[in-house]
Amino acid sequence: MNVASTIVPEALRVPQKPRLVGMDRAALAEAAVAVGEQRAKGKMRANQLFHWLYFRGARSFDDMTTISKEMRAKLAEVYDVGREDIARAQVSADGTRKWLVRLADGALVETVYIPDEDRATLCVSPQVGCTLTCRFCHTGTQPWVRNLSAAEIVGQVMLARDELGEWPSLPDDRMITNIVLMGMGEPLYNYDNVVAALGLMMDNEGIAISRRRITVSTAGVVPMIGKLGDDTGAALAISLHATRDEVRDVIVPLNKKYPIAELMDSCRRYPGSANSRRITFEYVMLKGVNDSERDARELVQLIAGIPAKVNLIPFNPWPGSPYECSDEETIARFAAIVNRAGYSSPVRTPRGRDILAACGQLKSDSLRQRKSARSTALATSQN
Ligand code: SAH
Repeated sequence: MNVASTIVPEALRVPQKPRLVGMDRAALAEAAVAVGEQRAKGKMRANQLFHWLYFRGARSFDDMTTISKEMRAKLAEVYDVGREDIARAQVSADGTRKWLVRLADGALVETVYIPDEDRATLCVSPQVGCTLTCRFCHTGTQPWVRNLSAAEIVGQVMLARDELGEWPSLPDDRMITNIVLMGMGEPLYNYDNVVAALGLMMDNEGIAISRRRITVSTAGVVPMIGKLGDDTGAALAISLHATRDEVRDVIVPLNKKYPIAELMDSCRRYPGSANSRRITFEYVMLKGVNDSERDARELVQLIAGIPAKVNLIPFNPWPGSPYECSDEETIARFAAIVNRAGYSSPVRTPRGRDILAACGQLKSDSLRQRKSARSTALATSQN
């Protein structure tokens, strides 16, 4: 049975009403005018809606007490302010939380909350599935792919805030301090919606997470990298994973289109990259593939002159994955070479292993469970 077919029945669920979440002030003003607000008052109405949606996290028009009852009723007739459904929520022993979010058409995406000592990062997905087919990544094996709307991207942050009880959006003692666009999918292949969603996350009168605390991770869509810096000022992370084109061509096939030299060039030109805004180079440790001392030395040469840190990620295996994770000693040796060259190179501790926190795994696990539930149901009905 085709795995994608298991999500078709839910794909028939379409939202009843257009959503206000995801709209910026201009769109909110138009939405108010569309239900009868005077055009001259559109801007004021938009500011009120913006506040209720993105600062207070209102999930019902009834909560929006600064807006007249009559106006609230008109808005509620036409628009929706709810959230997506949570298909599954899990909490790891280490505090990592993972939500499998069911979008209005039944598609599933993952959002992961990773608390650390000095920060807590929310990992948000920009796409359902991914078109990139990086060989070590589970998401690339999943058949169902589409872009998320700006509403579905910023909606993941809002849903996490609901779950963590973190409204209104006050600046102190935040539970979510950082956001990374690093979940399923390639953010720079969904550029406009990602930029719109980032604008909403960064807006000071709303969710208000500083652009310095928002990182976009890309496998290297070179033509969009500089533009991202200009348009958003977000921090940049590059999934480098190899130092030579012949290796990177295999594990990150996008490299055949945008080879390493071009990618590094775009990093050198990234707007605002300075010591305070270092570029993160992600490097997944694959045994015998990219983990030699030579690789480490070449990595240091590649990033020379770029304010950078290197994030070494132990490969997180999945059923049927063609690689193994490098040994601990190999990773330590690799890290030491990068460190000695003056780059911070933390080894990312695997988080949430007990809840399958690696990219794409919760979704696949859930599809597998549904598949087996269906086969059981079929077997029972045939008996
Ligand atoms: N497309 C974007 C963001 C999604 S992937 C990008 O490529 O950056 C997020 C990060 O997880 C990437 O660095 C990716 O290479 C890494 N990753 C994917 N699968 C992994 C696995 N099985 N083990 C370790 N890291 C993985």
